[in-house]
Amino acid sequence: MATAHIGIIGAGVAGLSAAYDLARNGLRVTVLEAADQVGGLAAGFKAPHWDWTLEKFYHHWFASDRHILGLIRELGWSDQVLFPRPYTVVYYQGKFYPLDSYTEAARFMLRHFSLPDLVRFGLVGVYLRLTPRWQPLERVTADAWMRKWAGERVYNTLWRPLLVGKFGEENLNVVNMAWLWARLHARTTRLGTFVGGFQAFLDRFADHLRGLGVQICLNTPVLAIRRSGSPRLTVETSAGAHAFDAVISTSSPALMARLAPELPESYAANLRALKSMGAVVLIISLKHRLTDYYWHNLPKEAGFPFLALVEHTNFMSPEHYGGDHIVYCGDYLNPDHEYFRLSKEELLARFVPTLSRFNPAFQPDWVKDAWLFRTPYAQPVPPVNHSRNIPPLRTPLSGLYFASMSQVYPWDRGTNFAVEIGRKVAGLVIENLRSDV
Ligand SMILES: Cc1cc2nc3c(=O)[nH]c(=O)nc-3n(C[C@H](O)[C@H](O)[C@H](O)COP(=O)(O)OP(=O)(O)OC[C@H]3O[C@@H](n4cnc5c(N)ncnc54)[C@H](O)[C@@H]3O)c2cc1C
Repeated sequence: MATAHIGIIGAGVAGLSAAYDLARNGLRVTVLEAADQVGGLAAGFKAPHWDWTLEKFYHHWFASDRHILGLIRELGWSDQVLFPRPYTVVYYQGKFYPLDSYTEAARFMLRHFSLPDLVRFGLVGVYLRLTPRWQPLERVTADAWMRKWAGERVYNTLWRPLLVGKFGEENLNVVNMAWLWARLHARTTRLGTFVGGFQAFLDRFADHLRGLGVQICLNTPVLAIRRSGSPRLTVETSAGAHAFDAVISTSSPALMARLAPELPESYAANLRALKSMGAVVLIISLKHRLTDYYWHNLPKEAGFPFLALVEHTNFMSPEHYGGDHIVYCGDYLNPDHEYFRLSKEELLARFVPTLSRFNPAFQPDWVKDAWLFRTPYAQPVPPVNHSRNIPPLRTPLSGLYFASMSQVYPWDRGTNFAVEIGRKVAGLVIENLRSDV
């Protein structure tokens, strides 16, 4: 067993976390990554005059993210984790309201809603926060459950915009209530990051893995995974083939179905049936501060051309970014949406005029620079009774494992759960290798 060689496809948080446990158990590990850096969706970049990296897609940790914070503790780097308390606001009738505390939410409700609405809002919030039982909630859509229990007015003001923003109108009758339960049950208002940004953590983690003997091959897209004799699997890459005793893929489900054509049709069909949304994020650096808040939730019907405006430098100081004030304009969309085809300049032309809705003093000459990031696989869509649809981590093809965001459930995907699933799949590989001896 000590000589078994494990291949991992993807140097995202799941792949790196799996590599960590496998290497510490004495296995030989090679990580094959298509991109030129580690980190996957959590990766960051740096403008020449910045000291810190910035996540390509806005990222923070919750204080309840025990898997990733536990991993960082194990590595001895907890002193590098920062947890400020930035503010989230919701747009309602032309104004922004901070609703990320029960007191603020109650003040807002008292001002805008009736007493019965307030009581229902409070009871629903307390119930979802306290009940550990998500299983009955996955049998019904979030739309139907919230309409019934929170009431039409509260639902239409607070919850419907969130669901439509994340999944689109077309998925309102799809997404189950366990997804919304998970968000309300586990999330905290204190939000965290790593000194230097997520990429600083990911690069340090990758260096630590190299120190444990893990080989990380960047710029190495995997083209196919095939069954072979002994060792059991061959992985074809643009730079040649590798033979492995076991392979863990952390790609999207659709890509996994294409990469491994020998997977039995039932498992491949299961992979193909999993739905997800893509994400488009335009990052704009500004000469001046735009707002007083970190996160702005924007209802689609209010005419904003994106779902969220995130002023990162109200979370982490602009001094880390050469004095730039950084805003993300982000949206979750189907990959066939026109935002996946428009150029950065075309999106800027659509988004920049909207910034004056956040600050009437805004002028287009505040814009210093912009960066555009898009991914077709950003957010799994969990339908009713989703627990029955989740493909097992161990595929029917001997030695081949699959661990993706789409198998994270009922929790909403995130780096915390990427650590959990990565370590879980590593545990399975170790267990199966032991039983093979
Ligand atoms: C807009 C947005 C906002 C988010 N916000 C947060 C947040 O605030 N907090 C949080 O914790 N999480 C957040 N997340 C989620 C978080 O980024 C993911 O849950 C996590 O990074 C997933 O890690 P992973 O390793 O499972 O997958 P990925 O990060 O997708 O990693 C998969 C890796 O596999 C590589 N790969 C794919 N195919 C191949 C191939 N054929 N050959 C070789 N390599 C391949 C990819 O390049 C990638 O590096 C956000 C995600 C998005 C999109």
